[in-house]
Amino acid sequence: MGQVDQLFHLQQIDDEIRAGKKRLARIVRLQADDQELLAARERATAAENELQKLRVSQNELNLELRGLNSKVKNSERRLYSGVVKNPKELSDLQHEIESLTRRRGVLEDEILEIMILAEEAGEEDKVATDSLLRMEAEREQELQELESEKTSLIQRINDLNNERKQLIALISPESMNAYEGTISRVGSTAVVVLKGVRCGGCQVGVPANLVKAADEGQLVHCDSCGRILTPM
Ligand SMILES: [Zn+2]
Repeated sequence: MGQVDQLFHLQQIDDEIRAGKKRLARIVRLQADDQELLAARERATAAENELQKLRVSQNELNLELRGLNSKVKNSERRLYSGVVKNPKELSDLQHEIESLTRRRGVLEDEILEIMILAEEAGEEDKVATDSLLRMEAEREQELQELESEKTSLIQRINDLNNERKQLIALISPESMNAYEGTISRVGSTAVVVLKGVRCGGCQVGVPANLVKAADEGQLVHCDSCGRILTPM
């Protein structure tokens, strides 16, 4: 392999290492990002708490209703028992029954209202829990895939680094200087392919003598952008 071919190969290795490291950084960010799952968990917890709260209220109101019913029943029993004869006492009993019955009406409305709310909360609780379970399963799958991709990527980058070391040992210090110098001037891509008589980097036409020299395997730079030219 000629020096320019080796530099081109080095360029390809460096490109892949750079892309691999970029993907690796992205994987680490994706692994750490639990935002969606946390939001789903918060929603499910809130729905469960709301449902629980409504059920407690529902129980309290039902208990109160049972108490009221038995009070009304007792008062009615006394009223119609014939035991109470005093008109004042009878009228008090009647008022008490009326007042208890009014309270019972209000209570029954409240119970109906809370039943509707509890039904809605039950639906939200079910939807939120199902969604959370689904997202947890998906996230677990995603994390497994990311971890496995990360492992192969790290292995691939290690292999490329070893290949790079072996390759660099074959490249002359002058060629290496030319490669690194070009990178520091033009950025990550130092070696580009000649497309006919155009530079593959800047697309500007390359003089015939430079094309010829590149074809012969000499290390030449594009006049326009300074990149190292390699034939197809
Ligand atoms: Zn160029």
